[in-house]
Amino acid sequence: MTTTWILNGLTIDPETGDTVKKHLKLENGLVAQWLDGSAEPDVGSAEAIDAAGKLVSPGLIDMHVHLREPGFEHKETIASGTASAAKGGFTTIACMPNTRPVIDTPDTVKLVLERAEAACGVRVLPYAAITKNELGRELTDFESLKSAGAIGFTDDGVGVQNAQMMKNAMALAKSLDMPIIAHCEDDSLVVGAAVSEGAFAKRHGLKGIPNESEAIHVGRDILLSEATGVHYHVCHVSTEQSIRLIKLGKSVGVNVTAEVCPHHLLLSDEDIPDSMDANWKMNPPLRTPRDVEACIKALEEGTIDIIVTDHAPHSEEEKAKGMERAPFGIVGFETAFPLLYTKFVKTGRWTLGFLLSRMTSDPARVFGLDTGKLEVGAPADITLIDLDGEREVDPASFLTKGRNTPFTGWKLSGWPTLTIVAGKTVWSEEQGILKSSEE
Ligand SMILES: [Zn+2]
Repeated sequence: MTTTWILNGLTIDPETGDTVKKHLKLENGLVAQWLDGSAEPDVGSAEAIDAAGKLVSPGLIDMHVHLREPGFEHKETIASGTASAAKGGFTTIACMPNTRPVIDTPDTVKLVLERAEAACGVRVLPYAAITKNELGRELTDFESLKSAGAIGFTDDGVGVQNAQMMKNAMALAKSLDMPIIAHCEDDSLVVGAAVSEGAFAKRHGLKGIPNESEAIHVGRDILLSEATGVHYHVCHVSTEQSIRLIKLGKSVGVNVTAEVCPHHLLLSDEDIPDSMDANWKMNPPLRTPRDVEACIKALEEGTIDIIVTDHAPHSEEEKAKGMERAPFGIVGFETAFPLLYTKFVKTGRWTLGFLLSRMTSDPARVFGLDTGKLEVGAPADITLIDLDGEREVDPASFLTKGRNTPFTGWKLSGWPTLTIVAGKTVWSEEQGILKSSEE
């Protein structure tokens, strides 16, 4: 029997929303017991972690990440990506299939799971592609991909352009009780642009990506989800128009859920520096301040269900190609919680409990995971967070291979200090990554 105590940590009282001191006992990878802070637990020879002054949170869950392996190991590997996730406080991550080869065969699903198993211990849930090679021409073998361990289907990185193809995918996914996760983008409206249609594009004489390119797919797919009954999950929502459609879909009982990224809650196209720094280039692009406010409100009222990072590392050479030629994407694991905690909780707009639920229990609910809550008997996936200490974002300190972030130099608090998966510490501020394979 392996027993660990987490002593004197702070948890949120569900009644008052205040933080209260408690002791937590973990046994054999599960949450075993909570004791009041005034009690004196009999720790004996068990491992004891001093969490005084730290928040004891359920491990964070990120349902949209790019680990880049196989095929793009110069950007990230499963080892470096899971290490970065652990440092960001994430204990479960779901990785996108736009690797090379694309995750579109059972063998590739198994390869990702095996490499994740050999990495630091963060749980990795692979998505498989909807269409072979994400080319939109032929469906993959959903049944065998599910058997191999895929948790859902998505062609993330590109939209499925053909409506009949999407409808067939949804019908098949529904028959297997699996979700369809969609990157919503109509290629005929995108016109090869790098930024959103708006102030920045105008100022620099650039073509812009219009909001409709996202929302048209959202509307189409909500109708197809209604027709097929599938659980349809919208990736990285960024526009007011998409939100209107999701709200309508939910109001008539369509099984639609949605996610939003920290950068779409914090930055608009008006914030992009005139230096044309490609660390501000991502897909969907940064939209107008009006879209940003719509995303925040939609998350607050539950039209958007969860927060994801869309962690998308690229090499410095790739990002140095400039706004028009650099690839889309920014890294996300190691800044997500501190950004949102500092900008929304410390400012008083959100409660701590609200932010945590959108990054733990809500993603678990949407995707049917048994993690995301620290009830007795639940998996002991835990993140300790320092809510007070303030530090600047410094890409040189990242464990991800990517340095591509627009948040360099931001002064933030809410930094994770220790990450536990299934009762075992996988990362701590003092010791870094601890190999879980030493047993
Ligand atoms: Zn995407």
